[in-house]
Amino acid sequence: MNTTVLVVEDEPAIQELLATTLVRAGYDVQRATDANVAMDSLRNTLPDMILLDWMLPGRSGLAFARELRSNPRTKAVPIIMVTARVEENSKVIGLEHGVDDYITKPFSPRELLARIKAVLRRRAPHSTDDAVKIGSLVLDPVSHRVCAGDKSLQIGPTEFRLLHFLMTHPDRVYSRAQLLDQVWGDHVFLGERTVDVHIRRLRLALQPSNHDKLIRTVRGSGYILIIKSI
Ligand code: CA
Repeated sequence: MNTTVLVVEDEPAIQELLATTLVRAGYDVQRATDANVAMDSLRNTLPDMILLDWMLPGRSGLAFARELRSNPRTKAVPIIMVTARVEENSKVIGLEHGVDDYITKPFSPRELLARIKAVLRRRAPHSTDDAVKIGSLVLDPVSHRVCAGDKSLQIGPTEFRLLHFLMTHPDRVYSRAQLLDQVWGDHVFLGERTVDVHIRRLRLALQPSNHDKLIRTVRGSGYILIIKSI
């Protein structure tokens, strides 16, 4: 599954520049011209990141960022604010409202991609290509392989994404709804039992090396990957 970025920008030339740069770098792009269109898009699918223009018609980017942060469905999605303002205080105001980073127009494609990568690495490590290691268990997003020591484990694509998310967010309980949002990218069309089915498959895939013990069921809450358990 590609990393998806929602671009919220009303100026066609800048929206096009942002979208083209992202598509060339291998991202999937969704576009919106204002906060209302963006909200419709977010109701259908959750992106991995939002690039949000500060000056939008209607609700400002800043007001929209605040709204996204107070909405349980969208509060975890990283936001990079795109701004023409260079004043230092716009940066401070943005960061106070839960914006993860900001980029000032005009920017180079290279700078944009570097910032996106840095924020994803910090906020959504399961959206980057970095290998993850817990004990002898290693997950490599580039080769799409999971190894325990020198043994390669057979794992399906959904179980791979689920394990990637859990390994990059250890020692925290996630509800089934949160896992659907984070791993499937959309909770709208899937039931929570889907999560149980794939957790069961994931544990089976991890059994040969005893790493199935990493994943615990928390009754009434969800699932957790506990690092200490190996
Ligand atoms: Ca604008």
